Amino acid sequence: MEHTHAVIIGAGPYGLSLAAHFREAGIPFRAFGHPMHTWKTQMPVGMKLKSDGFASSLSAGSQSFTLAEWSADNGRHYHDTLIPVPLEDFIEYGEEFARRFVPNLEETNVTAVVREGRGYRVTLETGETFHSEKIILAMGVGNFNFIPSFLRGLPEGTVSHSSEHRTFDEFNGRDVTVLGRGASSLNAAVLLSELGANVTLIARSRKIHIHEPTSDKRSFYQKVRHPLSPLGVGVRSWLACAWPDLFRILPAAVRRIIVFKHLGPAGGTALQGRIHGRFPALLGWSIDSVEAVPGTDQIRMQLLGPKGEKREHMTSHIIAGTGYRVDLARLSFLPEELALQIQREPNGQPTLNRNFETSVKGIYFVGPAAAASFGPLMRFAAGAQYAATRITDHVRRELAREPQRSRSTVAVPSMTGQ
Ligand SMILES: Cc1cc2nc3c(=O)[nH]c(=O)nc-3n(C[C@H](O)[C@H](O)[C@H](O)COP(=O)(O)OP(=O)(O)OC[C@H]3O[C@@H](n4cnc5c(N)ncnc54)[C@H](O)[C@@H]3O)c2cc1C
Repeated sequence: MEHTHAVIIGAGPYGLSLAAHFREAGIPFRAFGHPMHTWKTQMPVGMKLKSDGFASSLSAGSQSFTLAEWSADNGRHYHDTLIPVPLEDFIEYGEEFARRFVPNLEETNVTAVVREGRGYRVTLETGETFHSEKIILAMGVGNFNFIPSFLRGLPEGTVSHSSEHRTFDEFNGRDVTVLGRGASSLNAAVLLSELGANVTLIARSRKIHIHEPTSDKRSFYQKVRHPLSPLGVGVRSWLACAWPDLFRILPAAVRRIIVFKHLGPAGGTALQGRIHGRFPALLGWSIDSVEAVPGTDQIRMQLLGPKGEKREHMTSHIIAGTGYRVDLARLSFLPEELALQIQREPNGQPTLNRNFETSVKGIYFVGPAAAASFGPLMRFAAGAQYAATRITDHVRRELAREPQRSRSTVAVPSMTGQ
C-alpha cells in the first residue's frame, strides 16, 4: 500500500497554512479538502469578516503572502483595521494561496481513517486507500453546527441553522425569527431585514455587542494600555495571541472560564448602524416552549422576559444562530472506537499536547477544535501561523531523529512559491 508520512484533512486557513509549511520543510504529506469550502458554503453572501484585515492572513512559512499583499495585487480596498474584509475577497485570497503554496492539494474528501500498524489506513471518496503515520485534522467547525434539542422536534423546513444559508432570498416577505446575538445571528438578521423579511431577533442576553473599528491614530499611551492584537484591542486578547503555549499549561478550570468568557458573542464592525431600530430585538428573553400550530405553517413560541413576564410569539421560520459544539462522534470518517480513545476537555474538544497531538499517537487537531488547549486564538484564522509552525517543527524534529521514516512513495512537489 502506498505510504506517506502525514495527511492533512481540511483546506481552510489552518489546513492550507500547515500544508504550505510542510512543503517548505520537505515533509512528505498529502492534503485533502476543497479550498475555503466552509467559507464558500456556510457563510452568507455579502458578509464581512469579523477579524481585521491584518489578522486575516494565512501563513506560508518563510514566504510572505498576506491578505494586504493580495489585495494590493488585485486592486481591492484594504486597510489593516478600518475596512472590513468582504467574505468574497477572503475566499479568493485563500484559493490563490492554495494554488501558489499547496499545488498538491487533492480536492476530495477523506471517508475513513482506521488504525493500522504504526499509523493509519486512509480511504478517500475516490476509493483509493493508503497509509500514513500522522493524521492532522484541520476541519474547522463545519461539521459541528449546534441546534438546541427543544427545536429539533419541529416540522422539517421550519428550523435551520445559520450555517445553512448562503442567501436569504427564500424568506423575502416572510416572518422569520433569529435566535442568538453572535456574529452569525446578527449577520442573518441584518441581511434578512435589508432583504424585506419581517425579522425578529431573540437573545437571552440584554445587550448586543458590535465591534468598534480600531483607529490607526491611537496615542502611544493607548497603544501600550490597550494593545492591538489579531483578536482585537485589550491586554487579555494580546496575551492570548502572544502566548498560546502558556494558555495550555493553565489549570483546566481557568482555561475553561477563559474559553467560555473571553470574546463573547459580538458582531463585526460592518454591522455598525445596521441593527438598532432596524428590526425588533427581544433582548433578555428566553424561550419557554415552542410548538408547531397544526394545519398551518406557523410556529408558536412562548417567551419569558427579563422580569419573568410572558409573551407569545408567532413565526413561520426559526434560524438558530446557536453556534458550534465540537463533538468527535460527528466526524463520520473516524471509527467510534478511535474517537472514544481521544481524551477530551469538558467541552468535548480534544485535549492536546504542546504539538497539537491528541492522547492517540499520530492524531492531531488544529483550528477551533484546539481552542480548549491553546486558547481563543485558535478560533480564528490568525492562529494558523502558530499552529503550522509548531507542528512543522515537531514533525521535522522527529524525522531528523529517524530519517528512514520520511521515506515515502508519494512525491512532494518541489517548492515553486510564487
Ligand atoms: C459565520 C462565521 C464567521 C466567521 N468569521 C471569522 C472571521 O472573520 N475571522 C476569522 O479568523 N474566523 C472567523 N470565523 C471562524 C472560522 O470558521 C475559523 O477561523 C476558520 O474557518 C478555521 O479554519 P479551519 O482551516 O480550521 O477550517 P475551515 O475553514 O472550516 O475549513 C475546513 C476544511 O475542512 C474540509 N473538510 C471537511 N471535512 C473533510 C473531509 N472529510 N475530508 C477532507 N476535507 C474535509 C473542508 O472542505 C474545508 O476545506 C467565522 C466563523 C463563522 C461560522
